[in-house]
Amino acid sequence: MSLRFNAINNLSLDPKGLVESAGKITSYFGSNVFTLKTAREFLSDEAYKSLLASVKNSQKIDRNMANQIANGIRAWAESKGVTHFTHWFQPLTGTTAEKHDSFFTLKGDGTPIEQFEGDALIQQEPDASSFPSGGLRATFEARGYTAWDPSSPAFIMEIGEGKTLCIPTIFVSYTGQSLDYKAPLMKALEALNKAAVDVCNYFDKTVTRVTPTLGWEQEYFVIDEGLYNARPDLVMTGRTVFGHTSAKNQQLEDHYFGSIPERVYAYMRDFEQESYKLGIPLRTRHNEVAPAQFECAPIYEEVNLAVDHNTLLMDVMTRVASRHKLRVLLHEKPFAGINGSGKHNNWSMATDTGVNLLAPGKTPKTNLMFLTFFVNTIKAVHDYADILRSAIASAPNDHRLGANEAPPAIISVFIGQYLSKVLNDVKERVSDKMDETDESMLKIDIHKSIPELLMDNTDRNRTSPFAFTGNKFEFRAVGSSANCANPMTVLNTIMAETLKQFKKDVDGLIEKGEKKEIAIMHTIRQYIIDSEKVLFEGDGYSDAWEKEAEKRGLPNVKTTPLALDAMVTDKSLRLFESNKIYTHSELEARHEIELEKYIKKVQIESRIIGELATSHVLPPAIRYQTLLANNINGLKSAGLPESAYSNQQQILSKISEHISAVSDLVEKMIEARKVCNNMDSTRTKAIAYQSQVKDVFFDPIRYHVDKLELLVDDREWYLPKYREMLFLR
Ligand code: ADP
Ligand code: MG
Repeated sequence: MSLRFNAINNLSLDPKGLVESAGKITSYFGSNVFTLKTAREFLSDEAYKSLLASVKNSQKIDRNMANQIANGIRAWAESKGVTHFTHWFQPLTGTTAEKHDSFFTLKGDGTPIEQFEGDALIQQEPDASSFPSGGLRATFEARGYTAWDPSSPAFIMEIGEGKTLCIPTIFVSYTGQSLDYKAPLMKALEALNKAAVDVCNYFDKTVTRVTPTLGWEQEYFVIDEGLYNARPDLVMTGRTVFGHTSAKNQQLEDHYFGSIPERVYAYMRDFEQESYKLGIPLRTRHNEVAPAQFECAPIYEEVNLAVDHNTLLMDVMTRVASRHKLRVLLHEKPFAGINGSGKHNNWSMATDTGVNLLAPGKTPKTNLMFLTFFVNTIKAVHDYADILRSAIASAPNDHRLGANEAPPAIISVFIGQYLSKVLNDVKERVSDKMDETDESMLKIDIHKSIPELLMDNTDRNRTSPFAFTGNKFEFRAVGSSANCANPMTVLNTIMAETLKQFKKDVDGLIEKGEKKEIAIMHTIRQYIIDSEKVLFEGDGYSDAWEKEAEKRGLPNVKTTPLALDAMVTDKSLRLFESNKIYTHSELEARHEIELEKYIKKVQIESRIIGELATSHVLPPAIRYQTLLANNINGLKSAGLPESAYSNQQQILSKISEHISAVSDLVEKMIEARKVCNNMDSTRTKAIAYQSQVKDVFFDPIRYHVDKLELLVDDREWYLPKYREMLFLR
């Protein structure tokens, strides 16, 4: 029996709904995290204070203190049955990495002991040579090290075999260049903090810290493990390269917010419980639009922690799925013809005085502060749309952006009708001759229109890649499998840069003798005019918008190799260097790594397409072809008239046509790959893989394979079909 039918047979044997409730969430939330509360119990006063200072103000921890803290963490971990620890980091491969060491060691005289020293907490040297570095580490200097990030707490991973203490770290080369997603993110958050505090101080002198916040919404598919294993394309690439759409898919829209299937529900409850132990504050779960597609979202947190929690969650989801004989698909487009998955990044900034800078305020003055940050965000997205686009570019995300799928590759900003009106008012009523009375009148009028805005939560536009949703912006173009760190690094850097410029512009006007609030109004007005063209309220999927965007001069880059160009323009180098996020060589290395990732992904897909076509599709097709031919011959030699076998003949000729087309195209694709592989420059090669391999062969081969799927005897077909993967559970 083929794997396909075996999997279908076994479906009814799989566990359903067997998850024990862990009780009230508050009773175990964060139980596997070394929170500050736990630290209080396990550390001396002195060590606790040192840890606290480091968490709150990024202060350095000295060696002696590090030893004390490490001992405290070990005592806590051992009390929970942990024997091993690892530095947990986020290399540019996109997944998380860990290398386990035991606390167990031998003393000089051979006595076995358990120990965890400060040095081991603070710094480790994983064998870094096999992580991507884009040429930053020459092979003779392959070393890199991981360094403890105290702002994200240590945690215990207890899924699967054993329990491991994980220390969140950043990953850098010996020469100090960052080799991961976290180090630049932390720099960007600091840049934003400085720039935003300066601007806040125009309105409120007591603000001393601004923390960007992130709430992500993770979309994913869930399918049966047996069916997954019978699809080598899913196993190797995370998406199906073949598969005819099933008769029913999402057209009835009966899945969205529908009741969650029992088996998936058990899986959700299980991974949620594991997440709560790890302090991931999941809040929402529901079905998504496509069959077998779901979403979960947490309560937002400060960006660094939210990023760690998202990468951790993706790991937890993957591990817990196998307990339920399920597979979670985090790929942006696992199935052609139905919706793909994204990861909306809800983003805002909070002050240490408790104000959300993107929430409309309660007084005219706080509303001017809101308007300042609101308009600066629009300006940032306008000025750096190309760099923002590059931050979400990846081979899998190309199936969403730029395909007929949400959202488009054009970066635009949606703000809703009330705020559009407010911006218009500012534009029209702020003038050079404006005096204090005009200024305060306008401020009061803006303030008056804010309550309307707060009521305005129905005015949602699901097609915008960057939308204001009441008290935050929602960056929707991020891919479901992406590490949010990269888009968050870019967003916070461009915001920092824009706010710095804003401060310069306002101060310039103040020096010329303008009153502060009038100077702010003038600058806001100018920024609105400068960035107006990025605002768009209409249907982002329409062809009309593509044409309109082109007229407005907005970039619309549909493929990853070209979108990545924006990483290394002069503009980009200046932006990241002046804000101390990336040096030139770091940026160039990252650009190289992203291109290489793209090439490898397309190359692997191309190989699996060729292999599956040859070994999984053609054999049953040829067998069926033979069967038909024999049947026709038999009928002919029995002396039956043509009408007895003309239908078979038609099917036979169609099958034969598709069989030749598939073998022919696969041959040509292999040749095209050879041409690409001989190219020297990574960029040229990536473009060639996209335009000469992917664009030319993937869809045509799929077309013929999917036709064969409909023609060939169902019992003969090896690959699980869409209807089975998406509807059976
Ligand atoms: P939806 O957008 O699906 O209607 P919500 O608006 O309730 O859902 O929230 C989506 C996500 O936005 C949640 O993770 C939520 O915590 C987050 N969010 C809410 N406020 C903020 C904020 N100030 N900063 C960042 N994220 C936020
Ligand atoms: Mg949302």
